[in-house]
Parts: sequence; C-alpha cells; structure tokens
Amino acid sequence: MPFVLVILGRQGSGKGTQAALLAERYGVIHVSTGDMLRAAVAAGTELGLRAKAVMDAGDLVGDDIMIGIVDERLSGDDIQAHGVLLDGFPRTTAQADALAETLEGSGPDLAINLDVPIAEVTQRMLARGRGDDTTEAIDRRLALYEAETAPLLEWFEGRECLAVVNGLGTEEEVFARLTKVIDGL
Ligand code: AMP
Repeated sequence: MPFVLVILGRQGSGKGTQAALLAERYGVIHVSTGDMLRAAVAAGTELGLRAKAVMDAGDLVGDDIMIGIVDERLSGDDIQAHGVLLDGFPRTTAQADALAETLEGSGPDLAINLDVPIAEVTQRMLARGRGDDTTEAIDRRLALYEAETAPLLEWFEGRECLAVVNGLGTEEEVFARLTKVIDGL
C-alpha cells in the first residue's frame, strides 16, 4: 500500500495551497478532486458537463462518481511508487469507507484537519472572488461541510489517524505547523 495522507478543511482554509507545498516537500503526489473536476469542466468531458452545475451550486458531486475517479487515480504507478496527498477527498463517510476498502481495510496513514473558523473562511472566499464563489454557493458549501464532512473527523479519530492543525496565520506559519505534525509520524 502506498503512503496516504489526507488533508481536510473548510473551503477557504488554505488546504489547496498547503497541500501543494506539502506534496513538494515530501515528494508525494498531490491529488485534488476539486482540481480534477475543474479540469474536466474546462475540457468539456462528460464528467465535466455533469459536474459543472453541481459545483456551481456548491453541492457535492455524487459519491459513486467521486469514488470511481479517485480509485482509478490511486491505482496510478506514480502514486503506488511515491504515495499520495488527498486534497478534497474523502468528503463524506461513504467516500471514507470506500477509501478504506481500497486501502484493504485500513485508514490513511494520517488525516490532518486544517482548522479555520467559519467567519474567517467566508471572508477569505469572498476576497478571492473565484467564479463559483457566490455568497449562496459559499453558504451552501459551508453548510454541507458541517453536515457531511465534519462527521469524518470522528471517522478518522476512530482509526487513530487524526491530527488537528490551526490554519490561522501566515502561509509559512501554517506550513511549519503541518510539517511538524507530519515529521512526527
Ligand atoms: P474544492 O476545490 O475541493 O473546494 O472542490 C470544488 C467543488 O468540487 C466542491 O464544491 C464540490 O462540488 C466538488 N468536489 C470536490 N471534491 C469532491 C468530493 N470528494 N465529493 C464531492 N464533491 C466534490
């Protein structure tokens, strides 16, 4: 089994930025399901056509679709050789169960929750002004995070692989906190 690191955090927590930095530091492959979906939308593939409306509304793409995409990606030779940093997956307990099945019953090596309060992420998302960052979509995504993704924290805790890292502060400060946790493994 390859080394599997998961990074969780509300949209706007900075997890995408930190995930890219961490992948570079540790030489693992960064897999962002949001980036994969946005690439599919840009390329106009069948997946992209199906995902676009869901993403624009701030809803979650279906578990079956997401599990299929990630399973296929995880079987890649690069990931088998170098390990993976999953960014944006799993997002539901069904996705986490599917991941554990792929990993032959075990959880990931480590799941980090990059913790930033709701008020702060809302400000950050409005400030970055991405096309899908309407106030309605932001509210919807944050509500879905509490409903669907927050229960995952318990899921990881139950497998004794959860670490919580404070995501407030500069990019460098947060990166230093993250590497401290990972180096402690
Ligand atoms: P992100 O860049 O991670 O914020 O993802 C952008 C959008 O892609 C989300 O708002 C969802 O609509 C969709 N998405 C990304 N990853 C997942 C996932 N694991 N499960 C369901 N939907 C996802």
